[in-house]
Amino acid sequence: SNNVTYENVNKIYGEGSKNPVHALKDVSFTINPGELFCLLGPSGCGKTTLLRSTAGLEEISSGKMYYGDVDISTIPPYKRNIGMVFQSFALYPHMSIFENVAYGLRVRKVPNDEVKKKVTQVMELVGLQEELKRNPSPTALSGGQQQRVAIARALVYDPDILLLDEPLANLDAKLRRYMRAEIRRIQKATNITTIFVTHDQEEAMAVGDRLAVLRKGIVEQIGTSDELYNEPKNAFVANFIGKMNFFESTVIDSSKDSIDVEIKGKGIRFAIPKAKCRTQAKKGDSVLIGGRPEQLIVSAAPLNKCIEGNVHIIQHLGSFIRYEVTIDSSISPVALEIDMDSLQKDIHEGDRVYVGFKEDKISLFSPE
Ligand code: ADP
Ligand code: MG
Repeated sequence: SNNVTYENVNKIYGEGSKNPVHALKDVSFTINPGELFCLLGPSGCGKTTLLRSTAGLEEISSGKMYYGDVDISTIPPYKRNIGMVFQSFALYPHMSIFENVAYGLRVRKVPNDEVKKKVTQVMELVGLQEELKRNPSPTALSGGQQQRVAIARALVYDPDILLLDEPLANLDAKLRRYMRAEIRRIQKATNITTIFVTHDQEEAMAVGDRLAVLRKGIVEQIGTSDELYNEPKNAFVANFIGKMNFFESTVIDSSKDSIDVEIKGKGIRFAIPKAKCRTQAKKGDSVLIGGRPEQLIVSAAPLNKCIEGNVHIIQHLGSFIRYEVTIDSSISPVALEIDMDSLQKDIHEGDRVYVGFKEDKISLFSPE
């Protein structure tokens, strides 16, 4: 297994036309050998474009892509030795399961007995060996089984890189969670450098060794789930990896070790340590105070430095209780999400409440 490197990769669809689409903008990063790397971002941000470019199905407009030291940017797709699984699975309905999986070996003119050995091996790996005997046609398979066939088909010729484009999107919620773990198990067993694309942050956090957050063709941040959750470098990442409540604020003083800010229209001030400031803001600048749901507190009684609001909904989410609180001001956000460890017995839906801050946890961002 080897690393995959992108160097200033740009992709412009319809270059020179009246309406060019700049789908990838100076994408540069390295995926480690054997890593399960997640590409995460909203629909249209360029995830599929990056995968298809890696596979050679799209020609990049500029930049380089390497597998180890080998520049693969201009190598034709069939010589790149890359396995790809699409959202639709794209199985061949007229072929048996065996031949679906064997396809990549047949086109590589692998001898029959070797084909048989490899297909049996990979079907075992993905947990379909029984199905193969019982049920020769892919059309009779469940969604989860089709998914496994698609993965087996991509793995059978020992690809250097495995590309998975929203592979779980067509499965129901329960199966999706199960297949997350299966994909991780299979990837770790093969140790093939893998890129897993999804728009679902929970899925990306659960599956990936590391994640890249993509927005409008730009890589915003790369890191482990923990790093992205605890140290998001801007408001977009903060609110894409988990939830972040934002409070429009003004910088009062930035000359010390912390930045002093005041929530607009509320007169509440905080000193945010510079280590928690993802902005170089200066006195008078507009900024956003960010507080994750678990970094706020809801209370029936007034708190020091609090905002008043009304409880909209109380959700029981197992290990915690989520309070949705709407606040009056047009300046601050209208709806807050606050997670408490336990049910606040004196707070009910519709009640007037007070929202406080865990001052040592909150952070500061530039407005988007
Ligand atoms: P994602 O997979 O993250 O949803 P895509 O890579 O499919 O995003 O698309 C990125 C951008 O490129 C979008 O604006 C999309 O409309 C555009 N795009 C994708 N494919 C083509 C194409 N073949 N021709 C023109 N524009 C395209
Ligand atoms: Mg896509």
